[in-house]
Amino acid sequence: MGAEAVMGRRQCVLGMAATMLTPMARACDGPVLVIGAGLAGLSVARHLHDAGRSVVVLEARDRLGGRIHTSRVWPDLPMDLGASWIHGVQGNPLTALAREARASWVATSYEASLALDARGQEIQSDTSSAERLLRRATQWAERRSADVSVWAALQAQPEWLRLAPAARQRARHHWNATLEQEYGGALDELSAWHGTDADGFSGVDGLFPQGFDALIQHAARGLDVRLSSPVRSVAPGRVVLANGSSLNARAVVVTVPLGVLRAGGLRWEEALSPARAQALDALRMGLLNKCWLRFDAVHWPTDVDWIEWLGPEPGRWAQWVSLARAARQPVLLGFHAAHEARALESLSDRDTVASAHDALRAMFGTRFPAPVAAQLTRWGQDPWALGSYSFNAVGTSAATRKALAGAEWDGALWFAGEATEPDYFGTAHGAWISGQRVARSLLDGRCGPRS
Ligand SMILES: Cc1cc2nc3c(=O)[nH]c(=O)nc-3n(C[C@H](O)[C@H](O)[C@H](O)COP(=O)(O)OP(=O)(O)OC[C@H]3O[C@@H](n4cnc5c(N)ncnc54)[C@H](O)[C@@H]3O)c2cc1C
Repeated sequence: MGAEAVMGRRQCVLGMAATMLTPMARACDGPVLVIGAGLAGLSVARHLHDAGRSVVVLEARDRLGGRIHTSRVWPDLPMDLGASWIHGVQGNPLTALAREARASWVATSYEASLALDARGQEIQSDTSSAERLLRRATQWAERRSADVSVWAALQAQPEWLRLAPAARQRARHHWNATLEQEYGGALDELSAWHGTDADGFSGVDGLFPQGFDALIQHAARGLDVRLSSPVRSVAPGRVVLANGSSLNARAVVVTVPLGVLRAGGLRWEEALSPARAQALDALRMGLLNKCWLRFDAVHWPTDVDWIEWLGPEPGRWAQWVSLARAARQPVLLGFHAAHEARALESLSDRDTVASAHDALRAMFGTRFPAPVAAQLTRWGQDPWALGSYSFNAVGTSAATRKALAGAEWDGALWFAGEATEPDYFGTAHGAWISGQRVARSLLDGRCGPRS
Protein backbone atom coordinates (compact mmCIF):
# COMPACT_ATOMS: atom_id res chain seq x y z
CA MET A 1 0.00 0.00 0.00
CA GLY A 2 1.55 3.32 -1.02
CA ALA A 3 1.90 6.07 1.54
CA GLU A 4 0.27 8.53 -0.85
CA ALA A 5 -2.89 6.50 -1.20
CA VAL A 6 -3.06 6.16 2.55
CA MET A 7 -2.63 9.87 3.19
CA GLY A 8 -5.21 10.63 0.54
CA ARG A 9 -7.92 8.91 2.56
CA ARG A 10 -7.08 10.65 5.80
CA GLN A 11 -9.53 13.54 5.65
CA CYS A 12 -12.32 11.32 4.47
CA VAL A 13 -11.95 8.88 7.34
CA LEU A 14 -11.50 11.60 9.93
CA GLY A 15 -14.66 13.26 8.70
CA MET A 16 -16.53 10.01 9.01
CA ALA A 17 -15.21 9.55 12.56
CA ALA A 18 -16.47 12.97 13.53
CA THR A 19 -19.96 12.47 12.11
CA MET A 20 -20.37 9.03 13.66
CA LEU A 21 -19.59 10.20 17.17
CA THR A 22 -22.63 10.70 19.37
CA PRO A 23 -22.33 11.18 23.11
CA MET A 24 -24.75 8.36 23.90
CA ALA A 25 -23.16 5.83 21.58
CA ARG A 26 -21.76 2.82 23.37
CA ALA A 27 -18.01 2.54 23.41
CA CYS A 28 -18.12 -0.58 21.24
CA ASP A 29 -20.28 0.89 18.52
CA GLY A 30 -18.26 3.68 16.92
CA PRO A 31 -15.18 3.75 14.72
CA VAL A 32 -12.10 2.01 16.05
CA LEU A 33 -8.49 3.12 15.88
CA VAL A 34 -5.90 0.35 15.95
CA ILE A 35 -2.30 1.23 16.84
CA GLY A 36 0.16 -1.08 15.07
CA ALA A 37 -0.06 -2.91 11.75
CA GLY A 38 1.56 -6.16 12.84
CA LEU A 39 -0.45 -9.38 12.76
CA ALA A 40 -2.40 -8.48 15.92
CA GLY A 41 -3.43 -5.05 14.65
CA LEU A 42 -4.32 -6.41 11.23
CA SER A 43 -6.31 -9.20 12.85
CA VAL A 44 -8.40 -6.72 14.86
CA ALA A 45 -8.90 -4.52 11.81
CA ARG A 46 -9.65 -7.42 9.43
CA HIS A 47 -12.33 -8.89 11.66
CA LEU A 48 -13.96 -5.52 12.40
CA HIS A 49 -13.81 -4.42 8.75
CA ASP A 50 -15.33 -7.70 7.53
CA ALA A 51 -18.16 -7.20 10.01
CA GLY A 52 -18.87 -3.79 8.51
CA ARG A 53 -17.24 -1.67 11.20
CA SER A 54 -15.14 1.37 10.41
CA VAL A 55 -11.54 0.99 11.46
CA VAL A 56 -8.29 2.87 10.87
CA VAL A 57 -4.85 1.39 11.57
CA LEU A 58 -1.99 3.69 12.56
CA GLU A 59 1.48 2.30 11.98
CA ALA A 60 4.78 3.94 12.96
CA ARG A 61 6.89 2.21 10.32
CA ASP A 62 6.80 2.80 6.59
CA ARG A 63 5.80 -0.82 6.08
CA LEU A 64 3.21 -3.33 7.28
CA GLY A 65 3.90 -6.43 9.34
CA GLY A 66 5.87 -5.34 12.42
CA ARG A 67 7.83 -8.35 13.59
CA ILE A 68 6.94 -10.12 10.36
CA HIS A 69 9.35 -8.58 7.90
CA THR A 70 10.31 -10.23 4.64
CA SER A 71 13.46 -8.64 3.26
CA ARG A 72 13.80 -8.45 -0.52
CA VAL A 73 17.38 -7.16 -0.45
CA TRP A 74 18.16 -10.34 -2.40
CA PRO A 75 15.42 -10.04 -5.02
CA ASP A 76 15.58 -13.71 -6.02
CA LEU A 77 15.62 -14.91 -2.43
CA PRO A 78 13.17 -13.37 0.08
CA MET A 79 14.44 -13.67 3.67
CA ASP A 80 12.28 -13.37 6.76
CA LEU A 81 14.02 -11.20 9.31
CA GLY A 82 11.26 -11.67 11.89
CA ALA A 83 8.95 -14.68 12.09
CA SER A 84 9.69 -17.46 9.61
CA TRP A 85 7.51 -20.39 10.61
CA ILE A 86 3.94 -21.31 11.28
CA HIS A 87 4.70 -23.34 14.39
CA GLY A 88 2.46 -26.40 14.19
CA VAL A 89 0.29 -26.19 11.09
CA GLN A 90 -2.63 -28.30 12.38
CA GLY A 91 -5.51 -26.19 13.62
CA ASN A 92 -3.31 -23.10 13.51
CA PRO A 93 -5.35 -20.10 12.31
CA LEU A 94 -2.38 -18.95 10.24
CA THR A 95 -2.56 -22.13 8.14
CA ALA A 96 -6.03 -21.08 7.00
CA LEU A 97 -4.79 -17.53 6.40
CA ALA A 98 -1.89 -18.90 4.33
CA ARG A 99 -4.33 -20.99 2.28
CA GLU A 100 -6.52 -17.95 1.63
CA ALA A 101 -3.43 -15.93 0.69
CA ARG A 102 -2.27 -18.78 -1.61
CA ALA A 103 1.07 -18.69 0.21
CA SER A 104 2.81 -22.02 -0.07
CA TRP A 105 5.00 -23.30 2.73
CA VAL A 106 7.54 -26.10 3.06
CA ALA A 107 8.02 -28.23 6.15
CA THR A 108 11.22 -28.25 8.18
CA SER A 109 11.86 -30.96 10.72
CA TYR A 110 13.85 -31.18 13.95
CA GLU A 111 14.30 -34.85 13.03
CA ALA A 112 16.54 -33.78 10.12
CA SER A 113 19.32 -32.46 12.32
CA LEU A 114 23.05 -32.76 12.77
CA ALA A 115 25.03 -32.13 16.00
CA LEU A 116 28.73 -31.26 15.90
CA ASP A 117 31.26 -30.89 18.71
CA ALA A 118 33.63 -27.91 19.00
CA ARG A 119 36.00 -29.44 16.41
CA GLY A 120 33.28 -30.40 13.96
CA GLN A 121 33.00 -34.09 14.81
CA GLU A 122 29.47 -35.42 14.55
CA ILE A 123 28.03 -36.37 17.92
CA GLN A 124 24.86 -38.12 19.00
CA SER A 125 22.87 -35.54 20.82
CA ASP A 126 21.84 -37.17 24.09
CA THR A 127 19.46 -34.82 25.85
CA SER A 128 18.15 -37.22 28.49
CA SER A 129 20.23 -35.96 31.43
CA ALA A 130 19.51 -32.30 30.59
CA GLU A 131 15.80 -33.05 30.42
CA ARG A 132 15.83 -35.05 33.65
CA LEU A 133 17.69 -32.26 35.42
CA LEU A 134 15.23 -29.66 34.16
CA ARG A 135 12.30 -31.79 35.35
CA ARG A 136 13.85 -32.11 38.81
CA ALA A 137 14.61 -28.39 38.94
CA THR A 138 11.02 -27.56 38.01
CA GLN A 139 9.63 -29.94 40.65
CA TRP A 140 12.02 -28.44 43.22
CA ALA A 141 10.86 -24.93 42.30
CA GLU A 142 7.18 -25.93 42.55
CA ARG A 143 7.68 -26.88 46.21
CA ARG A 144 9.00 -23.41 47.04
CA SER A 145 6.77 -20.59 48.26
CA ALA A 146 8.15 -18.09 45.71
CA ASP A 147 9.06 -18.34 42.04
CA VAL A 148 12.76 -18.40 41.05
CA SER A 149 14.58 -18.41 37.71
CA VAL A 150 15.11 -21.63 35.79
CA TRP A 151 18.85 -21.15 36.27
CA ALA A 152 18.57 -20.78 40.06
CA ALA A 153 16.44 -23.94 40.18
CA LEU A 154 18.93 -25.86 38.04
CA GLN A 155 21.90 -24.78 40.12
CA ALA A 156 20.19 -25.90 43.31
CA GLN A 157 20.21 -29.50 42.08
CA PRO A 158 23.05 -31.66 43.46
CA GLU A 159 23.06 -33.52 40.11
CA TRP A 160 24.05 -30.31 38.31
CA LEU A 161 26.99 -29.76 40.64
CA ARG A 162 28.16 -33.33 40.05
CA LEU A 163 28.05 -33.16 36.23
CA ALA A 164 31.37 -33.47 34.40
CA PRO A 165 32.32 -30.42 32.26
CA ALA A 166 31.43 -32.12 28.95
CA ALA A 167 28.01 -33.16 30.26
CA ARG A 168 27.45 -29.64 31.59
CA GLN A 169 28.25 -28.20 28.20
CA ARG A 170 25.74 -30.52 26.53
CA ALA A 171 23.07 -29.69 29.07
CA ARG A 172 23.71 -25.96 28.72
CA HIS A 173 23.50 -26.31 24.93
CA HIS A 174 20.19 -28.17 25.17
CA TRP A 175 18.66 -25.52 27.45
CA ASN A 176 19.86 -22.78 25.12
CA ALA A 177 18.22 -24.52 22.17
CA THR A 178 14.95 -25.46 23.83
CA LEU A 179 14.41 -22.61 26.30
CA GLU A 180 16.46 -19.51 25.48
CA GLN A 181 15.99 -19.68 21.70
CA GLU A 182 12.37 -20.70 22.06
CA TYR A 183 11.33 -18.05 24.59
CA GLY A 184 13.94 -15.34 24.00
CA GLY A 185 14.64 -15.06 27.75
CA ALA A 186 17.85 -16.20 29.44
CA LEU A 187 17.80 -19.09 31.90
CA ASP A 188 18.46 -16.60 34.72
CA GLU A 189 15.37 -14.55 33.68
CA LEU A 190 12.79 -17.24 32.81
CA SER A 191 10.31 -18.23 35.49
CA ALA A 192 10.86 -21.75 36.84
CA TRP A 193 7.11 -21.91 37.53
CA HIS A 194 5.70 -20.58 34.27
CA GLY A 195 8.59 -19.86 31.87
CA THR A 196 7.66 -22.77 29.61
CA ASP A 197 3.87 -22.61 29.93
CA ALA A 198 3.14 -21.77 26.26
CA ASP A 199 0.69 -24.00 24.37
CA GLY A 200 1.31 -25.02 20.80
CA PHE A 201 -0.38 -26.50 17.75
CA SER A 202 0.50 -29.93 16.46
CA GLY A 203 1.81 -30.83 13.03
CA VAL A 204 4.96 -29.80 11.24
CA ASP A 205 6.47 -26.31 11.18
CA GLY A 206 5.84 -24.50 7.87
CA LEU A 207 8.36 -22.09 6.34
CA PHE A 208 7.48 -19.66 3.52
CA PRO A 209 10.18 -19.68 0.79
CA GLN A 210 8.48 -16.70 -0.87
CA GLY A 211 8.10 -14.80 2.40
CA PHE A 212 5.79 -14.72 5.43
CA ASP A 213 4.63 -11.28 4.32
CA ALA A 214 2.17 -12.86 1.87
CA LEU A 215 -0.06 -13.38 4.92
CA ILE A 216 0.38 -9.76 5.96
CA GLN A 217 -0.55 -8.44 2.51
CA HIS A 218 -3.59 -10.69 2.45
CA ALA A 219 -4.74 -9.72 5.94
CA ALA A 220 -4.35 -6.01 5.09
CA ARG A 221 -6.26 -6.04 1.81
CA GLY A 222 -8.74 -3.20 1.60
CA LEU A 223 -7.99 -1.88 5.10
CA ASP A 224 -7.34 1.78 5.86
CA VAL A 225 -3.76 1.64 7.15
CA ARG A 226 -1.81 4.87 7.69
CA LEU A 227 1.89 4.11 7.45
CA SER A 228 4.62 6.38 8.93
CA SER A 229 2.12 7.46 11.60
CA PRO A 230 3.71 6.94 15.01
CA VAL A 231 1.31 7.52 17.88
CA ARG A 232 2.59 9.55 20.82
CA SER A 233 -0.26 9.55 23.33
CA VAL A 234 -3.63 7.94 23.96
CA ALA A 235 -6.61 9.45 25.80
CA PRO A 236 -10.16 8.07 26.04
CA GLY A 237 -11.54 8.46 22.51
CA ARG A 238 -8.47 10.21 21.11
CA VAL A 239 -4.92 9.54 19.98
CA VAL A 240 -2.23 12.11 19.23
CA LEU A 241 0.39 11.36 16.59
CA ALA A 242 4.06 12.31 16.81
CA ASN A 243 3.43 15.08 14.26
CA GLY A 244 0.90 16.67 16.62
CA SER A 245 -2.25 15.75 14.68
CA SER A 246 -5.00 13.88 16.49
CA LEU A 247 -7.76 11.42 15.63
CA ASN A 248 -10.93 10.58 17.50
CA ALA A 249 -12.58 7.19 17.86
CA ARG A 250 -14.97 5.26 20.05
CA ALA A 251 -12.34 2.72 20.97
CA VAL A 252 -8.57 2.54 20.62
CA VAL A 253 -6.86 -0.84 20.35
CA VAL A 254 -3.17 -0.82 21.27
CA THR A 255 -1.09 -3.60 19.72
CA VAL A 256 2.39 -2.10 20.03
CA PRO A 257 5.03 -4.52 21.32
CA LEU A 258 5.62 -5.03 25.03
CA GLY A 259 9.16 -3.63 24.65
CA VAL A 260 7.79 -0.31 23.39
CA LEU A 261 5.08 -0.14 26.08
CA ARG A 262 7.60 -0.90 28.84
CA ALA A 263 9.93 1.81 27.54
CA GLY A 264 7.11 4.40 27.78
CA GLY A 265 6.69 4.59 23.99
CA LEU A 266 3.03 5.58 24.42
CA ARG A 267 1.84 8.22 26.90
CA TRP A 268 -1.44 7.46 28.71
CA GLU A 269 -3.52 10.55 29.32
CA GLU A 270 -5.40 8.69 32.05
CA ALA A 271 -3.79 6.19 34.39
CA LEU A 272 -3.94 2.51 33.52
CA SER A 273 -5.43 0.17 36.11
CA PRO A 274 -2.90 -0.94 38.77
CA ALA A 275 -3.20 -4.58 37.58
CA ARG A 276 -2.31 -3.63 34.00
CA ALA A 277 0.52 -1.35 35.09
CA GLN A 278 1.92 -4.17 37.25
CA ALA A 279 1.66 -6.64 34.36
CA LEU A 280 3.58 -4.25 32.11
CA ASP A 281 6.24 -3.94 34.76
CA ALA A 282 6.57 -7.67 35.38
CA LEU A 283 6.54 -9.23 31.90
CA ARG A 284 9.77 -9.05 29.91
CA MET A 285 10.71 -8.76 26.26
CA GLY A 286 13.07 -11.47 25.04
CA LEU A 287 15.57 -11.36 22.22
CA LEU A 288 16.17 -13.61 19.23
CA ASN A 289 18.34 -12.44 16.35
CA LYS A 290 18.96 -13.90 12.94
CA CYS A 291 22.04 -13.95 10.75
CA TRP A 292 21.20 -15.00 7.19
CA LEU A 293 24.28 -16.08 5.21
CA ARG A 294 24.17 -16.71 1.47
CA PHE A 295 26.85 -18.86 -0.23
CA ASP A 296 27.85 -19.55 -3.80
CA ALA A 297 26.84 -23.19 -3.33
CA VAL A 298 25.91 -25.61 -0.55
CA HIS A 299 29.11 -26.58 1.30
CA TRP A 300 27.48 -28.54 4.12
CA PRO A 301 25.33 -31.68 4.38
CA THR A 302 22.24 -31.34 2.21
CA ASP A 303 20.00 -33.75 4.11
CA VAL A 304 19.52 -31.73 7.29
CA ASP A 305 17.38 -28.73 8.30
CA TRP A 306 18.94 -28.05 11.71
CA ILE A 307 22.64 -27.96 12.57
CA GLU A 308 23.74 -27.71 16.19
CA TRP A 309 27.25 -26.73 17.21
CA LEU A 310 28.55 -27.30 20.73
CA GLY A 311 31.28 -24.71 20.34
CA PRO A 312 33.51 -23.15 22.99
CA GLU A 313 30.92 -20.57 24.12
CA PRO A 314 27.43 -21.83 25.00
CA GLY A 315 24.74 -20.30 22.82
CA ARG A 316 27.17 -18.69 20.35
CA TRP A 317 26.63 -19.90 16.77
CA ALA A 318 25.03 -22.91 18.42
CA GLN A 319 21.86 -23.20 16.28
CA TRP A 320 21.63 -23.09 12.52
CA VAL A 321 18.95 -23.72 9.96
CA SER A 322 19.93 -24.81 6.48
CA LEU A 323 17.69 -24.00 3.51
CA ALA A 324 19.51 -26.58 1.38
CA ARG A 325 16.99 -29.37 1.94
CA ALA A 326 13.65 -27.59 2.37
CA ALA A 327 14.08 -24.75 -0.14
CA ARG A 328 17.09 -25.94 -2.20
CA GLN A 329 19.00 -22.74 -1.51
CA PRO A 330 22.67 -22.26 -0.46
CA VAL A 331 21.64 -20.36 2.65
CA LEU A 332 22.37 -20.81 6.35
CA LEU A 333 20.58 -19.04 9.16
CA GLY A 334 22.35 -18.64 12.52
CA PHE A 335 20.32 -17.78 15.64
CA HIS A 336 21.29 -16.07 18.88
CA ALA A 337 19.05 -15.60 21.87
CA ALA A 338 18.91 -13.66 25.12
CA HIS A 339 22.30 -12.58 26.58
CA GLU A 340 24.28 -13.88 23.56
CA ALA A 341 22.00 -12.01 21.17
CA ARG A 342 22.40 -8.81 23.20
CA ALA A 343 26.21 -9.18 23.20
CA LEU A 344 26.32 -9.76 19.44
CA GLU A 345 24.14 -6.71 18.70
CA SER A 346 27.08 -4.50 19.72
CA LEU A 347 29.36 -6.00 17.02
CA SER A 348 29.55 -4.48 13.55
CA ASP A 349 28.04 -6.42 10.63
CA ARG A 350 31.53 -7.18 9.40
CA ASP A 351 32.71 -8.57 12.77
CA THR A 352 29.52 -10.60 13.17
CA VAL A 353 29.94 -12.24 9.75
CA ALA A 354 33.64 -12.88 10.47
CA SER A 355 32.67 -14.52 13.76
CA ALA A 356 30.07 -16.68 11.93
CA HIS A 357 32.67 -17.68 9.35
CA ASP A 358 35.13 -18.70 12.11
CA ALA A 359 32.41 -20.88 13.62
CA LEU A 360 31.59 -22.50 10.26
CA ARG A 361 35.29 -23.25 9.66
CA ALA A 362 35.46 -24.95 13.05
CA MET A 363 32.34 -26.90 12.16
CA PHE A 364 33.08 -27.90 8.55
CA GLY A 365 36.84 -27.40 8.03
CA THR A 366 39.20 -24.49 7.47
CA ARG A 367 38.41 -24.36 3.74
CA PHE A 368 34.80 -23.49 4.33
CA PRO A 369 34.22 -20.43 2.11
CA ALA A 370 33.10 -17.02 3.29
CA PRO A 371 29.48 -16.13 2.55
CA VAL A 372 28.83 -14.05 -0.56
CA ALA A 373 26.23 -11.94 1.26
CA ALA A 374 24.66 -11.56 4.69
CA GLN A 375 21.63 -10.00 6.38
CA LEU A 376 21.54 -9.48 10.16
CA THR A 377 18.88 -8.41 12.62
CA ARG A 378 19.16 -6.31 15.78
CA TRP A 379 15.61 -6.51 17.13
CA GLY A 380 16.73 -5.20 20.52
CA GLN A 381 17.64 -1.89 18.89
CA ASP A 382 14.57 -1.63 16.66
CA PRO A 383 12.72 1.36 18.17
CA TRP A 384 9.29 -0.01 17.21
CA ALA A 385 9.89 -3.43 18.76
CA LEU A 386 12.69 -3.14 21.39
CA GLY A 387 13.03 -6.91 21.48
CA SER A 388 11.78 -9.99 19.68
CA TYR A 389 8.95 -11.48 21.74
CA SER A 390 7.76 -11.54 25.33
CA PHE A 391 8.49 -14.26 27.87
CA ASN A 392 7.29 -15.19 31.35
CA ALA A 393 9.91 -13.69 33.66
CA VAL A 394 10.19 -14.75 37.31
CA GLY A 395 6.89 -13.97 39.06
CA THR A 396 4.73 -13.89 35.91
CA SER A 397 2.23 -16.34 34.42
CA ALA A 398 -0.82 -16.54 32.16
CA ALA A 399 -2.65 -14.45 34.77
CA THR A 400 -0.19 -11.59 34.21
CA ARG A 401 -0.94 -11.64 30.47
CA LYS A 402 -4.69 -11.72 31.13
CA ALA A 403 -4.23 -8.59 33.27
CA LEU A 404 -2.53 -6.93 30.29
CA ALA A 405 -5.18 -8.01 27.78
CA GLY A 406 -8.72 -6.73 27.39
CA ALA A 407 -10.31 -3.39 28.09
CA GLU A 408 -9.52 -0.26 30.07
CA TRP A 409 -11.20 3.12 30.57
CA ASP A 410 -14.74 1.65 30.35
CA GLY A 411 -14.08 0.09 26.97
CA ALA A 412 -12.40 3.09 25.35
CA LEU A 413 -8.99 1.37 25.37
CA TRP A 414 -8.15 -2.21 24.45
CA PHE A 415 -4.95 -4.23 24.34
CA ALA A 416 -3.96 -6.97 21.90
CA GLY A 417 -0.63 -8.32 20.60
CA GLU A 418 1.41 -11.44 21.25
CA ALA A 419 2.27 -10.35 24.81
CA THR A 420 -1.42 -10.28 25.77
CA GLU A 421 -1.98 -13.90 24.75
CA PRO A 422 -1.97 -16.15 27.84
CA ASP A 423 -1.47 -19.42 25.97
CA TYR A 424 0.21 -18.65 22.64
CA PHE A 425 2.42 -15.66 23.56
CA GLY A 426 5.62 -14.99 21.64
CA THR A 427 4.24 -16.24 18.33
CA ALA A 428 2.68 -15.00 15.13
CA HIS A 429 -0.44 -17.10 15.68
CA GLY A 430 -0.66 -15.72 19.24
CA ALA A 431 -0.70 -12.20 17.80
CA TRP A 432 -3.48 -13.14 15.35
CA ILE A 433 -5.57 -14.87 18.03
CA SER A 434 -5.21 -11.91 20.40
CA GLY A 435 -6.55 -9.57 17.71
CA GLN A 436 -9.42 -11.92 16.94
CA ARG A 437 -10.38 -11.93 20.62
CA VAL A 438 -10.50 -8.14 20.90
CA ALA A 439 -12.45 -7.81 17.65
CA ARG A 440 -14.97 -10.37 18.88
CA SER A 441 -15.40 -8.48 22.16
CA LEU A 442 -15.97 -5.21 20.32
CA LEU A 443 -18.44 -6.84 17.93
CA ASP A 444 -20.29 -8.57 20.77
CA GLY A 445 -20.66 -5.22 22.49
CA ARG A 446 -18.76 -6.50 25.52
CA CYS A 447 -17.36 -3.16 26.59
CA GLY A 448 -16.17 -2.18 29.99
CA PRO A 449 -13.20 -2.94 32.17
CA ARG A 450 -11.87 -6.49 32.01
CA SER A 451 -14.59 -7.67 29.61
C1 LIG B 1 13.55 -12.85 14.97
C2 LIG B 1 12.13 -13.31 15.23
C3 LIG B 1 11.74 -14.59 14.87
C4 LIG B 1 10.44 -15.02 15.12
N1 LIG B 1 10.07 -16.25 14.68
C5 LIG B 1 8.79 -16.62 14.78
C6 LIG B 1 8.34 -17.80 14.11
O1 LIG B 1 9.10 -18.45 13.38
N2 LIG B 1 7.04 -18.17 14.28
C7 LIG B 1 6.17 -17.44 15.06
O2 LIG B 1 5.01 -17.84 15.19
N3 LIG B 1 6.56 -16.28 15.65
C8 LIG B 1 7.84 -15.85 15.51
N4 LIG B 1 8.23 -14.66 16.02
C9 LIG B 1 7.27 -13.88 16.84
C10 LIG B 1 6.27 -13.11 15.98
O3 LIG B 1 6.94 -12.45 14.93
C11 LIG B 1 5.55 -12.07 16.83
O4 LIG B 1 5.04 -12.67 18.01
C12 LIG B 1 4.38 -11.40 16.11
O5 LIG B 1 4.73 -11.04 14.80
C13 LIG B 1 3.96 -10.17 16.92
O6 LIG B 1 2.89 -9.52 16.27
P1 LIG B 1 2.20 -8.27 16.98
O7 LIG B 1 1.17 -7.77 16.06
O8 LIG B 1 1.82 -8.62 18.38
O9 LIG B 1 3.40 -7.21 17.13
P2 LIG B 1 4.20 -6.46 15.97
O10 LIG B 1 4.31 -7.31 14.79
O11 LIG B 1 5.45 -5.96 16.58
O12 LIG B 1 3.24 -5.25 15.58
C14 LIG B 1 3.17 -4.09 16.39
C15 LIG B 1 3.25 -2.88 15.47
O13 LIG B 1 3.16 -1.68 16.26
C16 LIG B 1 3.97 -0.70 15.63
N5 LIG B 1 4.24 0.37 16.59
C17 LIG B 1 5.09 0.37 17.64
N6 LIG B 1 5.02 1.53 18.30
C18 LIG B 1 4.10 2.30 17.64
C19 LIG B 1 3.59 3.62 17.82
N7 LIG B 1 3.98 4.41 18.84
N8 LIG B 1 2.66 4.09 16.95
C20 LIG B 1 2.22 3.32 15.90
N9 LIG B 1 2.69 2.05 15.69
C21 LIG B 1 3.61 1.56 16.55
C22 LIG B 1 5.20 -1.47 15.22
O14 LIG B 1 5.93 -0.81 14.22
C23 LIG B 1 4.58 -2.79 14.71
O15 LIG B 1 4.33 -2.75 13.33
C24 LIG B 1 9.52 -14.17 15.77
C25 LIG B 1 9.89 -12.87 16.12
C26 LIG B 1 11.18 -12.44 15.85
C27 LIG B 1 11.57 -11.02 16.17
